[in-house]
Amino acid sequence: MGKKWQGHAVILAAALLCLTAGAVKSRPAKPAVPARPAEISAGPLAELVILVDAGHGGTDGGARAKDSGTWEKEINLQTALALREALEDAGARVIMTRETDGEYSRNKRADLTARLELAKQGEADLLISVHMNEYRSRKESGPQVFYRAGQAQSQRLAEDIQAAMIRELKPQKERAALAGDYFMLSLDIPSVLVECGFLSNAREEKLLLSSAYRQRVAQAIRDGVTAFVNR
Ligand SMILES: [Zn+2]
Repeated sequence: MGKKWQGHAVILAAALLCLTAGAVKSRPAKPAVPARPAEISAGPLAELVILVDAGHGGTDGGARAKDSGTWEKEINLQTALALREALEDAGARVIMTRETDGEYSRNKRADLTARLELAKQGEADLLISVHMNEYRSRKESGPQVFYRAGQAQSQRLAEDIQAAMIRELKPQKERAALAGDYFMLSLDIPSVLVECGFLSNAREEKLLLSSAYRQRVAQAIRDGVTAFVNR
């Protein structure tokens, strides 16, 4: 694990002020920033701080599963919680953007800014945002990992996670990691947005509603992170 990509952004006073103002208005679910554990954790991801973002929340449900009507925000949260467990098992320290249904602001940009602020405050080394995809054609399927164009380390992390998901989940459609323009990918640390599968696809919806499959998704993402760290 090289130190070169662990650039920690400086917290800007202006951003903090802006956040505080937003928080008063919106009464978000309390973010959990765990204290750094006293003992040194062991494992392939030891000493790594990872921000895990469960996409959407509160009034923003995200996509909606076609058959069950389940909101994406719920499946994101369950998957993110499984991911936290998988990452912690490997020794990482995990910061969650949310552990319950909630949002930092009804203003989307303010909500995402608050989530990114947690990564800065916690000096996160990596950022993983968990989402579920949807499309008008119900045939589309397969997990897909996004990174910001021009960020070489983010692209490598995305490719490693994509490869692990294909290897371990054996999706019917094998997608490739792709550059995507997402505000959650705007920090200078390796950051990815993982679309774990399509809620518009009957087969994948069923899989993603099962905790056993979500656990496999979480382990695949964890194995992708481990591959990235071991490069
Ligand atoms: Zn989403």
